[in-house]
Amino acid sequence: MQNGIRSGLAALAAAVLAAAVRPARALEAGAAKAVITPDVRAVTVYMAGFGNNRVATGVHDDTYVRCLALRAAGKTLAGCEADQIGLFYDDVLKIRAQAKARAPEITHLIVASSHDHESIDTMGLWGPRPLVSGINERYMDWLDNRIASTAVAAVRSMRKARMTLARDDHPLLALLQSDSRPPYVKDPYLFVMHLTADSGAPLATLVNWSDHPETLGSLNTLITADYPHWLCAYVESHGGGTAVFFNGSIGGLLSTLGDEVALQDPDTGEIAKDGTWLKARLFGNTVGELAMRALERYPQNVDVDSFRIRHQVIFAPLQNDGFRVAGAAGVFAGRKPLYTEGQPDPSVAEKSVPGLGTVKYNTGHDTETEVDYIQLRSRGRVVAEVATIPGEIYPELVNGGLARYPGADYPDAPFEPTLRAHLKSRYQFVFGLANDELGYIIPKCEYDNVPPWLRNHKTRWYGEVNSAGPDVAGAVMNALVRLIEQP
Ligand SMILES: [Zn+2]
Repeated sequence: MQNGIRSGLAALAAAVLAAAVRPARALEAGAAKAVITPDVRAVTVYMAGFGNNRVATGVHDDTYVRCLALRAAGKTLAGCEADQIGLFYDDVLKIRAQAKARAPEITHLIVASSHDHESIDTMGLWGPRPLVSGINERYMDWLDNRIASTAVAAVRSMRKARMTLARDDHPLLALLQSDSRPPYVKDPYLFVMHLTADSGAPLATLVNWSDHPETLGSLNTLITADYPHWLCAYVESHGGGTAVFFNGSIGGLLSTLGDEVALQDPDTGEIAKDGTWLKARLFGNTVGELAMRALERYPQNVDVDSFRIRHQVIFAPLQNDGFRVAGAAGVFAGRKPLYTEGQPDPSVAEKSVPGLGTVKYNTGHDTETEVDYIQLRSRGRVVAEVATIPGEIYPELVNGGLARYPGADYPDAPFEPTLRAHLKSRYQFVFGLANDELGYIIPKCEYDNVPPWLRNHKTRWYGEVNSAGPDVAGAVMNALVRLIEQP
């Protein structure tokens, strides 16, 4: 009996010792990508992001969905980003259901959009004319399935992996973001997550940075992923493995366009103009180079051994009449149902809207969306975090710098909490347009839908027309902070 106990204790001690000396190698990683380019010869493809009726005439470069899967301590986390303007929560829920049906081991799947302004309309707003949907249902069904199967392929390809993290705030990163509205707060921070196999072979590199992919402008009719095409190509041709780009805080709005974003062609000395392939190529290559430079100069190897995955479904009030009219007209092709007190509310009323006359109008109160907060942990410590934002967030909500200006609609609105003030680690991945695209997420104190305009500007500032309303920022930020501060 005593011998039995003694040998049991000896075995336990040996096991404890083995666990202590064995390096923490719990992490697995896999990546996959697939082409999602629409067939512009088979169907009329309305291009998203600028005006109505911009019909694609060809393909310059393929658009992709790119997925990264990570597994530690029995949890599998997958994140996909696709080259498209945005996806509503409905499509994301369908994609998750399809992916989990094939790979039940997926604990959580994030689906984000790059906000590409040079590919097919996946939100319906850019059809042949206003209030006529640009959505092609067959393409959307195919796309949802394609994203799900690519997530599953990433999960299936997982193997033992090592993770290296890097961040940078090189001055060029801010100079690549033009900002068109006060306060001129940008989000220049670049975050990189690099994964290698046991053999040292590169598996994947995730790059998170913020800017509107719209370099080709409103006149281009060739499908392209815009600057993320060259960014990913640069990373993949410089030892990064499969590149996965997640856009960040791009509201406000941070853009590649404008004279102040000046990129010089090293061969000719020419400054690349807006709307040119040269500018998109130089832009993507520059960000790709900065990402690989950050990994080379500031690498931090981390032994990630577990995740904490928290997500919260929220109901954010919809206060944009334009979106309600669009919804009732079928622009979203049945997506974006409205809710009242947490229950689906499909009711429609007639309403007189200036400029449109009497139109049908969705009357439900809220739109349903989601925020996620994920910790990557090592021996009980948070080494990196991911926060998801269901739209285009103004950078001052992420970095701080909210402002009160004369002309604001809600001059006394309390400031929403700022994200990075609550995050706990050095590696703060913020995925914009993740799991939904609610449009601009604007601080309530800066919301300006009626004159006088902010700072007594002569004309209205751009932003509110593509925002769900002044209370979305509070709903999103407060939900995220609750998830972050949860014990
Ligand atoms: Zn945008």
